[in-house]
Amino acid sequence: MAEQKRDYYEVLGVDKNATEDELKKAFRKLAKKYHPDANPDNKAEAEAKFKEVNEAYEVLSDPQKRKMYDAYGFNGPQYGAGGPGGAGGYYNYSDFSQFGFGDFDDLGDIFSSFFGGGGSSRRRNANSPRKGADLKVSTTVSFEESYLGTEKEISFSKNDTCKTCGGNGARKGTTVETCKVCNGTGKTVQVTQSLFGAVQTQRVCTACSGKGKIIKDPCPDCKGKGIVRKTVKIKVKIPEGIDEGQTVVLKGEGETGENGGPKGDLYIVVHVKPSNLYTRKAEHVLCDIPITFTGATLGTEIEIPMVNGEKEKYKIPEGTQTGTKFVVKGKGFKSLTGNWRGDFVFTVVVQVPKKLTHQQREILVELAKTMDEQPNPKKKGIFG
Ligand SMILES: [Zn+2]
Ligand SMILES: [Zn+2]
Repeated sequence: MAEQKRDYYEVLGVDKNATEDELKKAFRKLAKKYHPDANPDNKAEAEAKFKEVNEAYEVLSDPQKRKMYDAYGFNGPQYGAGGPGGAGGYYNYSDFSQFGFGDFDDLGDIFSSFFGGGGSSRRRNANSPRKGADLKVSTTVSFEESYLGTEKEISFSKNDTCKTCGGNGARKGTTVETCKVCNGTGKTVQVTQSLFGAVQTQRVCTACSGKGKIIKDPCPDCKGKGIVRKTVKIKVKIPEGIDEGQTVVLKGEGETGENGGPKGDLYIVVHVKPSNLYTRKAEHVLCDIPITFTGATLGTEIEIPMVNGEKEKYKIPEGTQTGTKFVVKGKGFKSLTGNWRGDFVFTVVVQVPKKLTHQQREILVELAKTMDEQPNPKKKGIFG
């Protein structure tokens, strides 16, 4: 067919150096002239001319394609098999009759396709591989689990490849056919007359809903979609040291990709239940430890309940004031990024007895007699 083709510039009746504006004007004029509805007596010829004009304009109005055409002619490398208008080509005639001359019902549609709405030629091909969607789920662990690390079973629903048909949507033993209307591109191009002249609109192929494929005998499990909604259960390792709101990412556990694209990822947001005993500050564990007032006064050895369930013996020196902080080094949270741990920091809270036995009271009274009557107020700076 290449040898029958007329030069695109000749088709549009313009100079090789024609500006975009000149091209557009020429195209509008010719599209109007050859519109099949305007040529009821020689439709066939008008259709052929119209196609030719449309194809020429399609190439020359695109600076990239025009460059390639100027350099290589009809068989420019960007066209692939058949070239524009050939098999898999650009213009599809069969939808043409839907749009009469001066039919303005679609103006809204035409405008939307101009202003970034559907149908832009830059839009991704419906058949190109697309990565599956990333999914976000959440799980809750106890404070202790966040300290020690744990494994959680997470259940969620996602779109997954249908196992019955392997994702192609056709019943087992049947095949998927390429859509003949759009030649598998999923798109058709219509040229309509608007107030501003002829306008090209790219539309989703109605015959195949843009898939480019026709499934005559759909897979019963996925109804031909190739994708099924599934509830999946998955075990997730929660690393030791994880903090409230941090996320564990499982690559490739998200939704299945389209047209052979990779799977999405699974983001697991971890929530940590607050503890009655401990709080967290960065990688440190904070804790209040009550001690008796005699222990604080005389000194004592206490057992501190650590987050991992162990008891840590700690010597409280005599004369320890309430609110004093002690540090057990390296017994805090494990760092997620390095091989180190925070500390376990506990604050001593001296308990004043609320009830005394008669004997205890007497001893205390004796003690009181030996003490200063009232300690002096602590001196503070001028700002308190
Ligand atoms: Zn299926
Ligand atoms: Zn189609």
